[in-house]
This record gives sequence, C-alpha cells and structure tokens, in this order.
Amino acid sequence: MTDSRPVVTRFAPSPTGYLHIGGARTALFNWLYARGRGGKFLLRIEDTDRTRSTPEATEAILKGLTWLGLDWDGEPVSQFEGRERHAEVAREMLANGTAYKCFSTPEEIEAFREAARAEGRSTLFLSPWRDSDPATHPDAPYVIRLRAPREGQTVVRDAVQGDVTFGNDQLDDMILLRSDGTPTYMHAVVVDDHDMGVTHIIRGDDHLTNAARQIQIYQAMGWEIPVFAHIPLIHGPDGKKLSKRHGAVGLHEYAASGYPAAAMRNYLARLGWSHGDDELFGDAQAKEWFDLSGIGKAPARLDFKKLEH
Ligand code: GLU
Repeated sequence: MTDSRPVVTRFAPSPTGYLHIGGARTALFNWLYARGRGGKFLLRIEDTDRTRSTPEATEAILKGLTWLGLDWDGEPVSQFEGRERHAEVAREMLANGTAYKCFSTPEEIEAFREAARAEGRSTLFLSPWRDSDPATHPDAPYVIRLRAPREGQTVVRDAVQGDVTFGNDQLDDMILLRSDGTPTYMHAVVVDDHDMGVTHIIRGDDHLTNAARQIQIYQAMGWEIPVFAHIPLIHGPDGKKLSKRHGAVGLHEYAASGYPAAAMRNYLARLGWSHGDDELFGDAQAKEWFDLSGIGKAPARLDFKKLEH
C-alpha cells in the first residue's frame, strides 16, 4: 500500500452529465491529497463511450471544478484520444502471451450462458480459444482477452477498505479490445493511469471489483500497481444512495444560488473524512491534514440542512 513515486492523483469523470456532489468530493479528495504533498492532480475525461459522452457535460464538469477552486495540472486528457495507444498495449499483451485472440461470437457466448443457467452451472464464460494453436485460427473477427490467472487470488490492498480478496476462479478473462478495435473501459483506465504516472487512485467504492480486474492487467504488463483508496459512496438523509430525489445534488445548483465555494469545499472535505473534532478549517489546513487514513469505511450521509446558508 505504499508507493515511493512522487504523488500523482487524478479525477476521471465520465462526461455524461453535470458535476454532482459525489464526483466533486472525489475530485476534492484527490486534489487535497496531491496538493498537500507537492504532487500533481490530473484530469482525465473518460469519453470512450461515444453514445453517452457530450462536450456540454465536459464543459459542465470543468466549470464545476473551477467554481469549487480545484485546479488541475496540464491539459485535461481525453480517453477517447488515446484509443490507438490502448490498442497498442493490447497487441503488446498478445505478443507477450498475457492476452489471446478469442473468436467466440456474442451469440455463442449467450448460448453458453443460457445453457449454464438452465443447468444451474456457473455462467462464467471461459473461452475455448484460450489455449488454442494460432495456426488453427480462422480469418474472422476476434476480441483480445486477458489470459487471467485461473488459480489463486487477486488482492486489492486498499488504503480505506483494507485487503479485499477476490478468488481468481470468479473473474473471467476480460475483454481488453473489442472486435472493432476499440478498448474496453477496464483496459483504457489501466493504460491511462499507467501512462499518466498515477500513484494514488481515490474513487468511489463502486469501483472496488474493477480494481481487482485492473490489478490483473497491471500484473500482466509488469507495471507498478498504484495505491487504491475506495471511498464509500455518499448516502442521502434516508440512508439510501444519494440521488436527485434527495434534493440539490448538482454543483451548478449551488453555484447559481450564490453558495460560497469555500463553504462547499469545507463541507465536502468532511463528507466521509474527518480530522479529530475539527469542523471548520481553511484550505491550507485541509491540505496539510488530509490523509487516506482519515477516510471512514461507512457511507457518509449528506445533511442538506448543513448545506443551507
Ligand atoms: N469514469 C469513472 C466514473 O465516472 C471513474 C473511473 C475511475 O475513477 O477509475 O465513475
């Protein structure tokens, strides 16, 4: 759980809507962690899903971060722009044997799953092409899959959650590159984080299982695994996952109503992180005090009353 490289964190939103309180808190934690350690805070726009990503959403996210007073180093990186590099790494993995070509069609895989369900067997698809002889390969579309370890365990050594262990027999050989040559989200994230020199990944704990899969890619490439810190998602006052029906969750709503950004920063900093009994502090203190060990394991509850002013 240590990384001796100079600290580099990142915020990696998918540009599918406005910046909400959950995303803003993730960004703030990454920013505080980097800025308190003389490190870098990078921004990556995860726009690989072309049907859901919009330039307006990217604009809204940048505006939200700027309103909150979070500055990033360098230009925002577009994940979509890196697709050639993602494909290149997948081909490198093919060449070094940590990945393989799978010619199973989506129909074949679905038929396998249906039969497995009907017979009460595991629906985990294990490609028949994993150990095939390339000389027997057809001239047909294929995906590139990771040759994941089938035995043992993959452990996410998480700075918030502790060691979280996944049995390798529960993880399939994930697809890295689709048959149209585009990278999967899982693969693109690892290549980008590696290339950007990210040392600490602080993000919502809905990505914890992804971390296990991502670690398998790091291991296949022999790349240094960053420190992971998966923070519990924010809940509404009723203890359910925070959503619009709870109240104002978009940062723009607060900005538009003249809410002070400094107060929002202070409130968000304490949403799931604490420093003793301190409630009000300035940026300098927050940067100095913020540490991963102060992040709680229980979901923080948003108290809208405290956000009134
Ligand atoms: N793009 C992902 C999201 O918006 C975040 C991925 C990550 O932080 O690794 O949920």
